[in-house]
Amino acid sequence: MSNLKIVRPGVELLPSGDERGLDPRDLSPADLEALNHQAMPASKAIRLHCVECSGGSAVEARMCVTVGCSLWPFRLGVSPWKAERQFTEEQREAARERGQALARKSDARVGAAVNLTGNLEGSAGAGISASHANSSPAISGRAA
Ligand code: SF4
Repeated sequence: MSNLKIVRPGVELLPSGDERGLDPRDLSPADLEALNHQAMPASKAIRLHCVECSGGSAVEARMCVTVGCSLWPFRLGVSPWKAERQFTEEQREAARERGQALARKSDARVGAAVNLTGNLEGSAGAGISASHANSSPAISGRAA
């Protein structure tokens, strides 16, 4: 935070006599709320600005033809560069296979852990019991 004089909430006075808005990175959430700002994603703030720029009309913001404005791609409140990815059927199938392979690997690790604990090989239910029977008292809730 600078040592400049605050001339009104959120505004400091430069030695030149000009006023300058405070750096919001220097302000706490409480400071920002005192200036009537709410926590929100930048995309929502842009949307609010565009609606305000359009005379308070969401329809007019949608209709905006000022394509040269740097906010224009964001005026609907989302980043078009972060749009939900579209997957092909091949990509979905590959993801399914990766998930199944991971699940098999995880099952194998659990099975190996059960075998290491000793005499509870066999049913899946016994495997779960073996795991709990060998867990620490802090995790299982049992006294040592
Ligand atoms: S894109 Fe620019 S000109 Fe259009 S509504 Fe938003 S701020 Fe206003």
